Amino acid sequence: MKTRIFTYVECSCGHRGALIETIETGAFRAGGHQARLRKLTHAGTYDGENVLFAAMKPGCPACCRSLSPDDVVGRSQLQGTGEVLRLARESESADVTLGARG
Ligand SMILES: [Zn+2]
Repeated sequence: MKTRIFTYVECSCGHRGALIETIETGAFRAGGHQARLRKLTHAGTYDGENVLFAAMKPGCPACCRSLSPDDVVGRSQLQGTGEVLRLARESESADVTLGARG
């Protein structure tokens, strides 16, 4: 089964994008974990503890700013038909199930 994890980021200029991880569960082998960027460039300079950001180096295409985990505004996980939305600013677990889109 494929699981997709969306990490939404918002630049200080207002531009929004996402890092999308695709994880194939049940198929444990190299390459089972892929990541790509949506509406972001690879021109960032992040080099810290967050493995995802360090690997992807997301940058803002609008103002060329480098994006870091501090710019994360939310996260959602898509598994099968349901999408689970988690907002980074909500400390307690408030999971909302949304319909699958696109
Ligand atoms: Zn920007």
